[in-house]
Amino acid sequence: MQAMMMNMPLRVIDILSHAAANHPGGEIVSVRCEGDIHRETYAQAFERTAQLAHALKGLGVDEGDRVATLAWNGYRHFELYYATAGMGAVCHTINPRLSAEQMLYIINHASDKVLCFDLTFVPLIEALSDHLPDGMKLVAMTDRAHMPESALDLLCYEDLLADHPQSYDWPILDEDSAVGLCYTSGTTGNPKGALYSQRSTVLHALFVTVSVPRSLHEGSRILPVVPMFHVNSWGLPYAAPLIGASLIMPGAKLDGASLHDLMQTEQVNAAWGVPTVWMGLRAEIDARGAKPSALDQMVVGGSAAARELIAYFEGHDVDVCHAWGMTELSPVGTHGQLPSTMNDLSDDEKLDMKALQGRRIFGVDLKISDEEGASLPHDGKAIGELHVRGNTVISGYFNNPEASDAAFDAEGWFATGDVASISADGFLSIQDRAKDLIKSGGEWISSIDLENMAMAHPKVANCAVIAIPHPKWDERPIIVVVPNDPQDPPSLGDLHGLMSEHVAKWQLPDAMELIEDLPLTATGKVSKLTLRQKFDGYVLPDAH
Ligand code: ADP
Repeated sequence: MQAMMMNMPLRVIDILSHAAANHPGGEIVSVRCEGDIHRETYAQAFERTAQLAHALKGLGVDEGDRVATLAWNGYRHFELYYATAGMGAVCHTINPRLSAEQMLYIINHASDKVLCFDLTFVPLIEALSDHLPDGMKLVAMTDRAHMPESALDLLCYEDLLADHPQSYDWPILDEDSAVGLCYTSGTTGNPKGALYSQRSTVLHALFVTVSVPRSLHEGSRILPVVPMFHVNSWGLPYAAPLIGASLIMPGAKLDGASLHDLMQTEQVNAAWGVPTVWMGLRAEIDARGAKPSALDQMVVGGSAAARELIAYFEGHDVDVCHAWGMTELSPVGTHGQLPSTMNDLSDDEKLDMKALQGRRIFGVDLKISDEEGASLPHDGKAIGELHVRGNTVISGYFNNPEASDAAFDAEGWFATGDVASISADGFLSIQDRAKDLIKSGGEWISSIDLENMAMAHPKVANCAVIAIPHPKWDERPIIVVVPNDPQDPPSLGDLHGLMSEHVAKWQLPDAMELIEDLPLTATGKVSKLTLRQKFDGYVLPDAH
């Protein structure tokens, strides 16, 4: 029987209009490229968003057109998210850490009409300018006084906004129409585009908000360290205004000292980012002897957070929520808030649970399957390729039928490329990316497991385990270690000692190599691809 309910399309702009009217205390605080701190309320952001939409219209942006951004986390970037969404255009966030070649590939693949950029990126735009699409408009996200000297024809963001009305007749849009475009970092092959809809973006904001209430509640002050060019800052620019939380935008400075200062002065109580960022903050907390005083929760994801890193922050009274996700999932798939039934666990047992990747958020279904595609039980033991489906999962890649065909199984589930187990009570345990798993003698070794154990050694600052080809065993693991003190590194025997408590002897790394820093990908994760290239031809101790 047909229900009798109104059917209003879900629109992203309604999040901001709601915040403007109902969350007068919510604000966006931004560390600007210009060097100062800027503050605006959601009500002010909504007015400026209307002005920006008029300005973009004036530049010829129509429904469906792509507006690209090369920008840090800040209020102008936020306004661009909402102005494009509100007018039915698409915000294409570009990761500035991509190679010039990849950047040009995605700008041309997306056919961006306008490119808005922070001052930091003027040299980059100048270097790319010969290869940008014809007629592309270039907008410097600053005011007249800070306009850079450039041979290029640059428009000024604040000039564009000036004199436009502070309201806009936001169109009623199809909720399945596109609103955001984000390319995966493409560690192999060309980047692939995830094209989010009005509907998926609003639903993702709602799903994340109900899943992580300790961060996302009215009055909280959240610092998204994860960039707005990396999967929409994990959805925070949508979730925070939705619930009335303030956004503290760090701009370009993401080192431990800058983050510590900003968290302290702005009384930040929640911050979200990848493990490498939290390692930087940890060093700063150690150096100062104090954590930022209001910090109460951090969300860590993007790559596996070591148990020992989680223990450090929990030991400083910061609740750690270990989440898993992907660009293709908008991106949050699971969250690590423990259920109240686990309140009575010991601290050690709680840490064991928090080191896992948490449970699925509402709206995302998980399954693991074997190589033939048969579903495996959720018993915490069976390990298979993780598949997902739900309203916030892509149904294909943007203008890329080949990649789209390869990404889904016969039942239409998206294949994540991650290998995992799921426990009976729903906890996901990511073993590895399929391509990072180490295949030894027909058995698999999880690099994440070994890294986690090595990280618990006091002489290890960071590490990565990679596969080296082996004539007899196929592959063998080696561990690449960044020592805390280069004069006093750990020995392979030290690490074996720690690991032998948990894994079989044949799983132990065959060798240890010291390195000053681990190579990172454009999204701040350890680049195993670069490491494997670096150790190409490496001769293992017993492999002759
Ligand atoms: P890319 O790095 O390719 O741009 P994403 O940022 O979307 O892509 O990264 C998604 C991948 O990151 C996942 O498939 C998974 O391998 C890894 N990942 C994300 N969160 C975690 C986590 N908490 N633990 C382990 N791996 C994670």
